[in-house]
Amino acid sequence: MTATIRPFRIGAEWRVGGGKSITSIYAGDGSVTGTVACATARDVDDAVAVAEKAFRTAPWRKLRPDVRATTMYEIGRRITAERVPLAHLQMLDSGKPLKECQHMVDNAAYFFRYYAALCETWQNEVTSPRGEYFSMSLAEPYGVVAAITPWNSPIMAEAQKVAPALAAGNAVILKPSEETPMLALELARICTEAGLPEGLLTVLPGYGDDVGAALVKHPGVRMVSFTGGTETGRCIATVAGERLIPVGLELGGKSPHIVFEDADLDKAAAGVLSGIYGSAGQSCVAGTRLFVQKSIYRRFVDELVERTKTVRVGLPDDPQTQMGPLVSKAHRERVAGYVDLARQEGGRVLMGGDRPSDPKLANGWFYLPTIIEGLPNSARAVQEEIFGPVLVCLPFEDEADVIAQGNDTVYGLAAGMWTGDYAKAWRVARELEAGSVWINTYKQSHIATAFGGFKESGLGREKGFHGLRLYSQVKSIFFGTHDKPMGL
Ligand code: NAD
Repeated sequence: MTATIRPFRIGAEWRVGGGKSITSIYAGDGSVTGTVACATARDVDDAVAVAEKAFRTAPWRKLRPDVRATTMYEIGRRITAERVPLAHLQMLDSGKPLKECQHMVDNAAYFFRYYAALCETWQNEVTSPRGEYFSMSLAEPYGVVAAITPWNSPIMAEAQKVAPALAAGNAVILKPSEETPMLALELARICTEAGLPEGLLTVLPGYGDDVGAALVKHPGVRMVSFTGGTETGRCIATVAGERLIPVGLELGGKSPHIVFEDADLDKAAAGVLSGIYGSAGQSCVAGTRLFVQKSIYRRFVDELVERTKTVRVGLPDDPQTQMGPLVSKAHRERVAGYVDLARQEGGRVLMGGDRPSDPKLANGWFYLPTIIEGLPNSARAVQEEIFGPVLVCLPFEDEADVIAQGNDTVYGLAAGMWTGDYAKAWRVARELEAGSVWINTYKQSHIATAFGGFKESGLGREKGFHGLRLYSQVKSIFFGTHDKPMGL
């Protein structure tokens, strides 16, 4: 162990894994943010043993919910108190602009506060009797939950899983992405300092095919909550299916964003740009497939190109920055590869399609906001998740045509539309195969509104009551009220 490698903790013991480490790189300029010890399969065994013991013996799951909530409120309070350093570290870890990181840290605190409030107010069901008994259905925790997260929204995605899982009484083992391992360790520290009993949250930094896979296979893990790519989700679901344990899956997307000819085109253009270039397109719900009604197609797309020229690509810590870098060099190459593929498939790149020329950005993993047209809906660049600032534009005839084209994808995470006709909006929203649909707005999210995907975009729902139910199993208990002994 060297002094610069940050260890992780299993129970009371600090660990350095098997000697390997993970280095987090700042996408703004390629410098090193920090290095953390990388867990091994042995650490997984030990972490599960500690979590099982904590689940069974610590009073956590048996505490009165209002008492459990006190610790959860305190975690939220401490996250807010550390907002500035946490957001800065998040920026260095993920490369996202500082203001987005502040928003994510705020959301992480809100998750703890929200699930604390749900924890202390949640009511179980009592059923009206149909005999000499009364019965009730109670929510019980699963035991040890494995939470596996991606790199695009660390701390927020992590709190979105850890807060409801703890509120429901579980013990959690969190494996953050190897791209962004820093924030989860901070979250574990804050939880400990807030009084969460030892062993109830363990963070294991490590690689997916090693630590992640070992967690999913481990017989002591009773539920898996995963956010990440659809192919990884499929592997996890296959193992979980064999083991007959529940999974929550928040997966990829290729969301249709629709502009009807009767829309407020000024607002629609702003919404389309924010839907694709926010987070540099590294958002599962990014509006990546733009469908514009034929009568306004040329005018609207030309206007988008003009507006895209004004998007300020810049360093994450510059308050003027509207779009920061991509998370890593490898990811930028992947995004650029898709734009090359689109060109080969016959697409016309109307804007971007390259790195920025600004010398201040030369050492980071920046890519210009990009607009492509001329591809059929079947092209790979239209169908596959690029996860970068690449918008593909397609024309459509009418309502039926855009519903058919919009749904012609394996994904079903989100969709958006702009129209002045609310009856049409309602009809189209009901037909779109997507877990979230935005009408005359885009990419809004609410802590209490269910979130998740249709089709290959996921299984189960997070946020709101759904989030708490995801981490609970139902037990029914019957109390006899017999006056006389039971007959046969
Ligand atoms: P990824 O699937 O490559 O990795 C996600 C996590 O899974 C990482 O922690 C990784 O180490 C781990 N992992 C990889 N292989 C594993 C295995 N075999 N077993 C267990 N764990 C394994 O995804 P990513 O590149 O980190 O993130 C981008 C993806 O996440 C995109 O597809 C995006 O759409 C999706 N995403 C979805 C949502 C949502 O809510 N639906 C939110 C954010 C991101």
